[in-house]
Amino acid sequence: KSAVTIKDLHYKYPNTTSEALSDISLTIKEQEFVAIVGQTGSGKSTLVSLIDGLIKPEKGDLNVAGLKINATTKAEDLSKVHHRVGFVFQFPEQQLFAETVEEDIAFGPRNLGWTAGQIKKSVDDALKMVGLPVALKTHSPFALSGGQMRRVAIAGVLAMKPQILILDEPTAGLDTQATNELLKLIKQLNNKATTVIMVTHQMEQVARYADHVIAMSEGKVIADTTPRHLFSDS
Ligand code: ADP
Ligand code: ADP
Repeated sequence: KSAVTIKDLHYKYPNTTSEALSDISLTIKEQEFVAIVGQTGSGKSTLVSLIDGLIKPEKGDLNVAGLKINATTKAEDLSKVHHRVGFVFQFPEQQLFAETVEEDIAFGPRNLGWTAGQIKKSVDDALKMVGLPVALKTHSPFALSGGQMRRVAIAGVLAMKPQILILDEPTAGLDTQATNELLKLIKQLNNKATTVIMVTHQMEQVARYADHVIAMSEGKVIADTTPRHLFSDS
């Protein structure tokens, strides 16, 4: 089954002349670990914003977690897509804002109108999923290490039980140990049935963790294959 299907998609930002994405077609299967690679300006952020339901295409269509998106999709339907997809920003400082870890993780579930009991359970479950002790709940997220902050940001997204998890350069600024631990965690989440889409510049991470790689250049997909195939000489 496919988690994301994109067909003949074009996207242009308002008041610009050239397309940020042109003629994209691709399929991401459920439970794949996909890496999106490409230079700055190649269209990676625009592509994941479309998958996250933040923007809609000019032409072409997407199917994300069973929901269809095209140029005529209404805001409320885009919002449904947004709620089935979890987006972890590049730097946790962009995502964390509350005084305590608990409040931060509870923000999304509360926004979705869940009951107090459901919220508490989702916070505890999310902390467990990212391997953080429940005792951290009362701490300020900003007092944590870089790796822990990343985990809190991921927990905040997981608390909403997304079908698809998008991570934008999740290991940016982390040291080698924290990077390896975080990637292992992401792989574990992937093994537990979450489709993972990771934007990265680290080819080593692609080779080691991804099972599908999409390479972008100038708004186009220039490779859509397995890491093994991309990195082989033949
Ligand atoms: P990447 O994430 O690979 O760096 P982007 O998706 O951010 O690439 O950018 C793709 C193209 O769209 C670039 O040419 C970029 O300048 C342009 N672009 C990105 N965001 C905007 C915006 N908000 N307004 C206008 N153009 C944009
Ligand atoms: P909607 O109104 O469709 O729920 P929002 O943009 O208000 O869209 O929020 C969607 C999700 O994005 C939220 O459930 C939340 O998890 C996340 N989010 C929004 N703002 C923040 C924020 N400041 N910090 C962390 N997460 C946020």
